[in-house]
Amino acid sequence: MSDHFDLFVIGGGSAGVRCARIAAGHGVRVGVAEERFWGGTCVNVGCVPKKLLVMASDYGAMPQDARGFGWDIPAGSHDWSALLANKDREIGRLNGIYRRLLDGAGAAVFEARATFVDAHTLDVGGRRVTAERIVVAVGGRPLRPAFPGAEHCIISDDAFFLPERPRRVAIIGGGYIAVEFAGIFSGLGSEVHLVMRQDLPLRGFDEDLRTALAEALDAQGMHLHRGARIAEVAAEDGTRRVRLADGTVLEADLVFAAIGRTPNVDGLGLERAGVMCDGFGAVCVDAHNRTNVAHIYAIGDVTDRLNLTPVATAEGHALADALFGPGPRVWALDTVATAVFSSPPLATVGLTETQAAARGPADIYCTRFTAMRHALTGRPRKTFMKLVVDQQTQVVLGAHMLGEDAPEIMQGLSIAINCGATKADFDRTVGIHPTAAEEFVTLRTQTRLVGQAEAAE
Ligand SMILES: Cc1cc2nc3c(=O)[nH]c(=O)nc-3n(C[C@H](O)[C@H](O)[C@H](O)COP(=O)(O)OP(=O)(O)OC[C@H]3O[C@@H](n4cnc5c(N)ncnc54)[C@H](O)[C@@H]3O)c2cc1C
Repeated sequence: MSDHFDLFVIGGGSAGVRCARIAAGHGVRVGVAEERFWGGTCVNVGCVPKKLLVMASDYGAMPQDARGFGWDIPAGSHDWSALLANKDREIGRLNGIYRRLLDGAGAAVFEARATFVDAHTLDVGGRRVTAERIVVAVGGRPLRPAFPGAEHCIISDDAFFLPERPRRVAIIGGGYIAVEFAGIFSGLGSEVHLVMRQDLPLRGFDEDLRTALAEALDAQGMHLHRGARIAEVAAEDGTRRVRLADGTVLEADLVFAAIGRTPNVDGLGLERAGVMCDGFGAVCVDAHNRTNVAHIYAIGDVTDRLNLTPVATAEGHALADALFGPGPRVWALDTVATAVFSSPPLATVGLTETQAAARGPADIYCTRFTAMRHALTGRPRKTFMKLVVDQQTQVVLGAHMLGEDAPEIMQGLSIAINCGATKADFDRTVGIHPTAAEEFVTLRTQTRLVGQAEAAE
C-alpha cells in the first residue's frame, strides 16, 4: 500500500465514509482511518441503535392499546439482553457494509487513530502517511458533566451497552438525546425522571412544540424536573442519589447525563497543521468546508453546525464531488427537516414562530386533536400541528408536528417547503383520508398573526 494519497480522510463516520467512497469512485488515491467503529456515531452509538431501542419501547403500550380494539394480549415482560444482542447483530452487519463500501470503491482502509504530524503528514497507528489534501471528519463526543459525583453518571455512548435496564433512571438534560432516552426507558417500563435546566425540553425548537412535548411526557407519567440544577450525585449500595440545587433528592438506579456533545479534536494535532478552531473546539470552515489551511477540509459534526447524519453525508459527498468530480453538489442546507424520536415523536422543518416573527408578519395555523387510534385506545395523547406562513408572500416558512409518524410526514413537507410552496398550494392539495397528515392541507382558520410590531418599526 502506497503511503502517499491524493486525499486522506480522518474518521470513518457518516461524513468520512461518504467523502472517501465518492472520492475513490472518482479515481483518485484515497486513504481513510477509523479508530473505533465503521459508520461512526450514527451507526454505532447514535441514530440507528437509538431508533431500534425506540421501536422496542413502542411495543410497551401495545397490549394496553390493543384492548380498545378488542384484543386481550397479556402485558408480558421485556428481555433487555435479547434486545441488545439483536441490536448488536444488526449494528455488526451495518459495520461490515460500511467497510465493504470503502473496499469496493478502492479506498485504502486503516483501522487506526490518525493524528497530524504537520500540514501534509499524518501518523496513522504509528505509520507515516502523506496526502495532497486532508479531510477532518472526526465527529463529536458526549460531554461529561463537571458537578460533584459526575463519575456516577453514564453518557449516551454507555446507554447502548447497559448490562440491564434500570428500574429507575434519572436523565439529566433537556435536549433530543435526553427526551429520546426518556421515552425509551419509560416505554420499557422504567420510572423516568427528566431533570432539565430549562422549563421546557428542546431549546431552539418551536415553543408550541416544546410545550406540547412537555405535556405529552407528563401525561405518560414521566417526572419532569423543570428549571433544575444538579448539586451532586452520590452512590450508595447501588443506588444513585441526585441532589438538586433546591434540595430535592431523587433516587435512581442509573443517572444518565445527556448534557450535549463537543467536537472530537483533543489530541488530533490540529495545531501542528495550523488549523483553526473556535472557542468550543469546532473546526472553523467556510461554506465549502475549507479550513484556514488551503488543502485541509472539515466535514460533519466536528464543525458543530447542523449535527445530523444526512447533513454530514451531504457535506462529505459535496466535498468529494467538488474536489475530484463534476463540481459541488448543492443541498438545501438552510431548510433541513429534523426529527426527535421522543414518545410521541416530533418533527420540524423551517422557521419557528419566534424566528418568523422576528422577520416580519406571519400567519400561524395550529391544530391539536386526538389521533383516530387513541379515540379507541383511550390513551391521553394529543397530536399537534403548526404551519408558519409569511403574511405578505403567503410562502410556508415552517411546519411543526408532534404525534405519531411526525418524522415520516415531515420528510414530504420539507420538499414542499424547499420548493417555496405557499399556503394556497397547501390548500389546493387534496388530502389522504383518514390520516393525521391530511390536517396539514386542511388548516383553514388562522390561529394568530405574529410579528406585526416588528414589521411596523
Ligand atoms: C444518541 C445519538 C442519537 C442521534 N440520533 C440522530 C438521529 O436520529 N438523526 C440524525 O440525523 N442524527 C442523529 N445523531 C447525530 C449523528 O449521529 C451525527 O450527526 C453523525 O454521526 C455525524 O457524523 P460524522 O461523520 O461527522 O461524525 P461521527 O459519526 O461521529 O464519525 C466520526 C468518526 O471518526 C472517528 N475518529 C475520531 N477521531 C479519530 C482519529 N483521530 N483517527 C481515526 N478515527 C477517528 C470516530 O471513531 C468516529 O467513528 C445522533 C447522535 C447521537 C449521539
